[in-house]
Amino acid sequence: MADKKQSSTCPLCTAKSTIFFEDEKHLFYKCRECHGVFRSEDQRLSETDELGRYLLHENPEFDQGYYQFILPVIEEVRSFAAKGSKGLDYGCGQHQVLMKYLAEDGYKMFGYDPLFLDDKELLNQQYDFIVSCEVIEHFFYPYREFQGLKNILAPQGKLICKTDVYDSKTDFESWYYKNDPTHVFIYMEETFEWIRKNLDFKDVKVDGRVINFSK
Ligand SMILES: [Zn+2]
Repeated sequence: MADKKQSSTCPLCTAKSTIFFEDEKHLFYKCRECHGVFRSEDQRLSETDELGRYLLHENPEFDQGYYQFILPVIEEVRSFAAKGSKGLDYGCGQHQVLMKYLAEDGYKMFGYDPLFLDDKELLNQQYDFIVSCEVIEHFFYPYREFQGLKNILAPQGKLICKTDVYDSKTDFESWYYKNDPTHVFIYMEETFEWIRKNLDFKDVKVDGRVINFSK
């Protein structure tokens, strides 16, 4: 990477950011303004390579391990959403497993995925809640994405995300989460606070890997 840039513009808040981590495979910048850690633009995969990668780690339907993986999101939804309320699974993937479980729970569910279920009409409706499980770390344009999601939330609606949150106690070099080439934007707790403030959400709660934004 002889031609690597020493600084890059943060795709969330547009602040100028400097190199945070690099090895032979990875180049990440860290933003001082929103505390986001983002992969160098040249390392983004093409849509075809990205798709190949997702098909590779797509989990078999109704597998017990996968259920445990999405359970924190299901439990978060159960904690506030009345049965029959309308939900969107944003980035539902090929098998829409989370969406199916929530539908079984009595929620009126819809699923959108830019690669597998690209029905843009669903992005013109309003939802009582949106779930986005292991999706936001794939956002090339996080500001635009969060803004879009907020716009389709009903008043008092909630956006529930799950991602692995980076903190300064974690050794980035040995951290598995950065190794996935489709992980392009990594969040710290402060990043969610930046989003809350700048996109005007009423509140945000971070509980482990589950993030709950209130409109
Ligand atoms: Zn930033």
